[in-house]
Amino acid sequence: MFYVSEQRNIIDIYHPAAQEYHSLLNSIGEFCEEEILHGAKRIDQEEIFPADNLVETTKRGLFALPFPEEYNGGGKPFPVYIAALEMLAKACANTALHVSIQGMICEGIRLFGDDRMKMRLLKEKGLVEGRSLIAFALTEPCCGSDAKSIQSRAVQMGDRYVLNGSKMMITNPGESDYALVFAATRRGISAFVVSTAEHGFKVMKTMPKLGFRGNQLAAIQLEECEVAREDLLGEEGRGLEYAKHILNVGRITIAAIGTGIAQAAFEKSVNYSKKRKAFGESISQFQLVQEKLSDMATQISAARLLTYYAGFLKDQGKDIALAASQAKLFSSESAIKVCDHAIQIHGGYGYTDAYDVHRHWRDARLLTIGEGTSEMLKLLIAHLALKDE
Ligand SMILES: Cc1cc2nc3c(=O)[nH]c(=O)nc-3n(C[C@H](O)[C@H](O)[C@H](O)COP(=O)(O)OP(=O)(O)OC[C@H]3O[C@@H](n4cnc5c(N)ncnc54)[C@H](O)[C@@H]3O)c2cc1C
Repeated sequence: MFYVSEQRNIIDIYHPAAQEYHSLLNSIGEFCEEEILHGAKRIDQEEIFPADNLVETTKRGLFALPFPEEYNGGGKPFPVYIAALEMLAKACANTALHVSIQGMICEGIRLFGDDRMKMRLLKEKGLVEGRSLIAFALTEPCCGSDAKSIQSRAVQMGDRYVLNGSKMMITNPGESDYALVFAATRRGISAFVVSTAEHGFKVMKTMPKLGFRGNQLAAIQLEECEVAREDLLGEEGRGLEYAKHILNVGRITIAAIGTGIAQAAFEKSVNYSKKRKAFGESISQFQLVQEKLSDMATQISAARLLTYYAGFLKDQGKDIALAASQAKLFSSESAIKVCDHAIQIHGGYGYTDAYDVHRHWRDARLLTIGEGTSEMLKLLIAHLALKDE
């Protein structure tokens, strides 16, 4: 079964009367297994943006799951969304990545946008449902972790802002209808929802990369790019504060993707180890292989618990900075270890394309970098620990 028993047990902890969520998650699991999984290898190998999968994902209501019904959201608890994302990532991490990015931006608009922006973008333009797509554009050639030093500028001219500058390593700007763009204004860094069709918003050449090859990675050039005053998210000068909230939500979803990727690699390893024979026995009988399987299972369980717990805190309206950072740090680092073990258990075949195992490792490798590197998350976790003292 794609919806594994441990996911079910955790959902039960947070929602004791969760029968309706189990049947929903079971059906999402079947959808992931029957309709998404089979295309994942091809999406990676041929570097295909998973547009068809995203359309199906929209139809199934996965993008919309945790958002309020007034924006055509599914109104479901965040851990249910996390469980769905985990399964989507297990089937095809390339498909899960855009759902995750879009989810965190929608949450930012929900939290900080005015009523008009929320109705227009979340509901009418269908961002909550995934009917239109949005990219997140913070990183610049000069700065990633050091986001406060970004150099793009937005100058107000009457009822418009004019943006100039460049963004680097942005996921799917050319596939999206909008981008949430951060730029410095008179009062500090601000965030703008920019239509990618806007004159002056130019998507540059795609950058080849190690994993997540179905997602485009590109630079953006902003040249006298005009946006209306109403496309400013919230208040001028509060962009970095908003980015922190948005990224906290994103970190929980990235942790879910890490867990899903690791689960896929683990299940392949269990199956392979039972079938592969050496010295007259299945390799699953060798204790050194069992040690790896044991480590993998334990890392995944711990990552899953931290991740769903952070999702639960979010639903409770609690501060998620610590839990989201811990979940993302642990899940992403674990996913790399688990996928590395998976390659080793598959022996030489793990290094080839035969069982499509190295895709999981290549995808997992991004997760300790994007949306806060492991180093930056460790600094943040230590900062929060020292503050509490
Ligand atoms: C596939 C992919 C997709 C991406 N998608 C997006 C996207 O959609 N939108 C977006 O805005 N960005 C995106 N990024 C950019 C990503 O968020 C940045 O790469 C990341 O934040 C790190 O920034 P950097 O690459 O500039 O590294 P740097 O910030 O230059 O860091 C380089 C190294 O130094 C370390 N370091 C930096 N400062 C410290 C410190 N104070 N203490 C200790 N170590 C430190 C870092 O941890 C890292 O190991 C993406 C990147 C990739 C690879």
